[in-house]
Amino acid sequence: MKRSDYVEKVWPSARDSDCENTMSNDANELIEILRASREHTRFMSELGVETVDEPTAAIERESSHTEGSTLFARSAPSLSSSLASAASRQPINPPKARVTPDSADSLFGDLLQPSFSQSEETLSDIWADIGDCTRCGLCEGRTQVVNTHGNASARLMFVGEAPGADEDAQGKPFVGRAGQLLTKMIEAMGMKREEVIIGNVNRCRPPGNRQPTLEEAAICRPFLFREIATIKPEVIVVMGNTALRNLLEVREGITRVRGKFQDFRGIKVMPTFHPAYLLRDPSKKRETWEDLKMVRDYLENLPTRKD
Ligand code: URA
Repeated sequence: MKRSDYVEKVWPSARDSDCENTMSNDANELIEILRASREHTRFMSELGVETVDEPTAAIERESSHTEGSTLFARSAPSLSSSLASAASRQPINPPKARVTPDSADSLFGDLLQPSFSQSEETLSDIWADIGDCTRCGLCEGRTQVVNTHGNASARLMFVGEAPGADEDAQGKPFVGRAGQLLTKMIEAMGMKREEVIIGNVNRCRPPGNRQPTLEEAAICRPFLFREIATIKPEVIVVMGNTALRNLLEVREGITRVRGKFQDFRGIKVMPTFHPAYLLRDPSKKRETWEDLKMVRDYLENLPTRKD
């Protein structure tokens, strides 16, 4: 469309500069929609969904490392660049967990909220597949891969962001100061750390403990999804924005979503603050405790699982 026609159509009395602003806003919006739908397509393919009959909703992910709800500015990598970069390192095997429709009476529920059925693999199978992973650039700075750790048939799972220095050195998640606080939180719920299972979105320590990029998270999280399909916990506590946004498709940050049960493929998810954030702002411990009490009460009122 010629610019003069465009002006007439969208804004009959527009000035040149108004027109340029409007066009550039429209272009930015279009790019954002394309970026979001590409990210959404990738997310759905990780869930095992092969076809979608209805246009999917745009996902706008936050990528701020803060616990607040600020919308982020970091742009997502293109799917082709993610795939090219991953393929040049190590292949990513498709998840073996089967996905079944969540609810027969919901028109798109089967596509948008698939739930796990039985996974045929063990945690050891998944860890063998991860191996000495070189699928993303984080492998270059790590000492070792830090896999999910704990009780393989836990009713409760905790998910954080990525290993820090202590975890990188010891090869286990949440063993540093934040981990010690997490242990206290678990014990306050009346459980032992050995009863639960703890993992991260990313398994290699990002340099300087920076937040993993969207690409790094997208490459690593399928392993977490496969672990979840194997463990089948009754509740997952996602701690902080990175865990929140890599498990759930939410626009809001942890401050807004925390304390409200969500659903991840048929599993209850409780978002709450990350223990590292609680170390920086202890006043948030009270709200975190409210969230954890809801989890404790939910589990207490569920009949004990027979495995
Ligand atoms: N922070 C995380 O998110 N994960 C860890 O394992 C340790 C600190």
